Amino acid sequence: MPTFLIYTLGCKVNQYESQYVREGLERLGFQEARAGEKVDIGVVNTCTVTAESDLKSRKIIRHLARQHPEAKLVVMGCYASRAPQDLANLPGVVQLIRDKAELPEWLRQLGLADPPQGISSFGPRHRAFVKVQDGCQQRCRYCIVPLVRPMLRSRFPQEVLEEIQRLVWAGYREIVLTGIHLGHYGLDLPAPRPSLTDLVKEILELPGSFRVRLSSLEAMEIRPELLRLLSAQADRFCPHLHLPLQSGSNSILDRMGRPYRLEDFLKICDQIRFWLDSPALTTDILIGFPGETEEDFQATCRAVEQVGFSKIHIFPFSPRPGTPAAQMPDRPPVGVVRCRCEQMRHIAQRLRRQYMESLLGRTVQVLVEEVLDTTDKEDLSLPLSTPLKGEYSTIPCGHFTSGSLCKIRLNSHTTQNSSGSCSGKSYWPQNAAPNNVSVLRGTSERYVPVYFLGSPSWIGQLLVLQPQGVFEPEQDRFALWAGAIAENPCRV
Ligand code: SF4
Repeated sequence: MPTFLIYTLGCKVNQYESQYVREGLERLGFQEARAGEKVDIGVVNTCTVTAESDLKSRKIIRHLARQHPEAKLVVMGCYASRAPQDLANLPGVVQLIRDKAELPEWLRQLGLADPPQGISSFGPRHRAFVKVQDGCQQRCRYCIVPLVRPMLRSRFPQEVLEEIQRLVWAGYREIVLTGIHLGHYGLDLPAPRPSLTDLVKEILELPGSFRVRLSSLEAMEIRPELLRLLSAQADRFCPHLHLPLQSGSNSILDRMGRPYRLEDFLKICDQIRFWLDSPALTTDILIGFPGETEEDFQATCRAVEQVGFSKIHIFPFSPRPGTPAAQMPDRPPVGVVRCRCEQMRHIAQRLRRQYMESLLGRTVQVLVEEVLDTTDKEDLSLPLSTPLKGEYSTIPCGHFTSGSLCKIRLNSHTTQNSSGSCSGKSYWPQNAAPNNVSVLRGTSERYVPVYFLGSPSWIGQLLVLQPQGVFEPEQDRFALWAGAIAENPCRV
């Protein structure tokens, strides 16, 4: 059986499109190559949002060509759209796909008479990304995206609904709606142009046990009707909104060409907090934009404090070829940018912990990602520096099944082993996704310790309790050790 291998860089939309390619190739009779297996077709789905992603894309293509000299390499994605000449002559590359809209035609050329209308699975986890929109025409002056994905393309609601229904019946419990400019969903569709709110409303009416999460949204596109809908369906929506602020200085926002002033952004955050119960607000902050002064940076620090973001993605400015910002003068020195990023990281850690503490005592809905067996600690994917000690009194394990949505109450809890004294630490894996838990089956079936490898519907990490109860904030290793009591059994 012919084999394929797919490497994906970049955003959720890219990951969705790679899944589409995977399913198309499988329909053609290809099989995904396992480690060490010969590869016939290698697909690299590139990203070009920063200089670093360009570098990584080229590195992966060369690595693939070295590892599988016989493989035909097909390169697609935003880097292929922006600079095909950089990639066309790399070893092993036989084809470039510059526009993802060409994917169905590419599969037809490979012999697939009926390319898929979407995806039907999304890997082993219980969450699936669903692309509903493509393209952006906003032209923020630092951003390369409108140059590589210029066309606004929204998928018709019926197609999206059928896809999500397939995924829910396949056992996916969380659907993450994604797009290049999600808030512009529907603008390009014929009248009566459904909005993002219309689409979310129809999705939430679909049968099945699942919840919806929205990926990045521009703050100015958060409509009151969307907030009312999400508030009314609080149990089926992850109250987490990612709103890129980029800077807290109005003069820098102007230079960036961002369509709002700080006051407008703060007003939207207040409206979100009015409608949603303790929502997690996360953001992107761009540090070192040309012309950024110390005062501009301090204004950004004050702004993120004022909002109280639960997570901040920090990006040092990376000039992108073809964007207006790449020609702008007065870039702060690299050392200054590095120092500001470090300062912002400390603020981000502190805000994250503050937000997590604000949830103690709450009852939240969590998605059980997997049930792990503690007997063989080696295969636990947690960055264990000290082995876990003993078991901790918490929850009857029967309540938890992988892929289940259930409610638990969050308490801070002193870890206690069977002899009753304080013991053990708990850890926070680096890139855990929010609101997922892993259940560690304790040595005795009755009790299981629960580690939040992320956070409940909102957030979750907290304190590492030393036996004396001392905090270790600097280490950024937090875990909420929940003496949780399952309030209601899983709905599977
Ligand atoms: S909204 Fe701005 S930052 Fe976002 S993709 Fe469009 S141009 Fe880029």
